[in-house]
Order: sequence, then C-alpha cells, then structure tokens
Amino acid sequence: MFAGGTARLLVTNDGEAPLELTVEPWADTYQIQRQQTYVVVTHSPVADGSWCGTLRGDEPFQVVYRPDSVTVWANGQCFHLADRAGHAIDAADWQCPAQNVAS
Ligand SMILES: [Zn+2]
Repeated sequence: MFAGGTARLLVTNDGEAPLELTVEPWADTYQIQRQQTYVVVTHSPVADGSWCGTLRGDEPFQVVYRPDSVTVWANGQCFHLADRAGHAIDAADWQCPAQNVAS
C-alpha cells in the first residue's frame, strides 16, 4: 500500500488542432489530438501535502499556457502519462516512490 501522495491532472484538448503538451522538468513533449484527454499523475513519498518540486505545500502541479501549447510542471518525483481509458503513454518513473513500495 502506497502511503505517499498522489495527484492527478486531466488535460483536455477542446480545440480544433492538436495541442502540444510538455511535461517538465523532464522536457518530454506529446501531442494531444482534438477532443482527447490525457491524464498526468505524479507521486510524492510523503502524504503530508508537500511536493519536492515546489517550496509551497499542496502544489503538485503548475500549468503554463501558451497559444497552441501547454506545459505541465509535475512537482512530485515522477510522472505517469495515460489516456482517459488508463492506457499508459509514457512515464518518467525511475524515482517513483509508489513503485518502490514492498508488496
Ligand atoms: Zn509515480
């Protein structure tokens, strides 16, 4: 059982053209097709609302918008990207605290 923090952010492209999604600080870039939703998940090793990527509490994400692109800063130790149906698209999970839990 993972005792840390989990945060999920849904990003929907409600426009008519593909939307560029960048996940920082990994600088990984994806294309969200129109009317598609991607789910960004990040984990923290502690459940007290603190996130290692920010000095403030309860701040698992920051979203930076520019025309035709959006950048999501994941403030946990990892990110997991999936579509709405739960199919994994990509991850940067080598520091993921949720995957290092003894089962
Ligand atoms: Zn993780």
